[in-house]
Amino acid sequence: MREDERLPTGVDRHTFGDDEHLATRGEPVYGEQTDGEWRAWNPTRSKLGAMLELGMDTGLAGGAEETVLYLGAASGTTVSHVADFAGPTYAVEFAPRPTRDLLAVADSRPRLFPLLADARKPETYAHVVESDIDVLVQDVATRGQARVALENRRFLADDGRLLLAVKARSEDVTREPGEVFADVREELATGYEVLETRRLEDYHADHLGVVARPE
Ligand code: SAM
Repeated sequence: MREDERLPTGVDRHTFGDDEHLATRGEPVYGEQTDGEWRAWNPTRSKLGAMLELGMDTGLAGGAEETVLYLGAASGTTVSHVADFAGPTYAVEFAPRPTRDLLAVADSRPRLFPLLADARKPETYAHVVESDIDVLVQDVATRGQARVALENRRFLADDGRLLLAVKARSEDVTREPGEVFADVREELATGYEVLETRRLEDYHADHLGVVARPE
């Protein structure tokens, strides 16, 4: 591991052939490189992977005690890595087709709980998701990304972290991404203290990575 890296337990740098990548231990999901029990975490396929690759201080600790609520799980590319290193991982996705794939991803991951639900309606999964969640990860790529984060703040422990990927084009394709990000930050500030932001440009065009805590 590099000196300055803050990687959760269960995430490490591993060499696959000639390439070094972040990696977790688990069954492969999206055609990623593998070596024995390790699977490469491709930052071009994962905003959270990009945030870790860029050295953002996500606060993720890893380990079976850490609870995660993941919004916008799609077919499980990123949330599969999270469930490889974290504890109970609740994965919300509202599109039925990717959720079917997600169920298959959960087969080999007993701590991954797929939920077919709309992240804008947290009351529909509040009875399933435990309270005082350590980390809320959000990658919904839909309009109203700050509002979704605010509506799901109720699940977070007081010292929990929001790890948010904001896609500028999902808010407004016609506006400068920087303006969109400024608006999202302003809205987020009504319920969160933003600790760190980073453009994910090296890996994902027009995306902002945000680390925040509830306020
Ligand atoms: N996070 C995924 C990964 O890295 O593997 C990719 C997520 S993709 C960019 C965004 C996903 O969010 C889509 O699968 C979409 O169906 C889902 N989504 C969008 N709005 C949602 C909502 N309101 N509730 C739940 N899922 C939503």
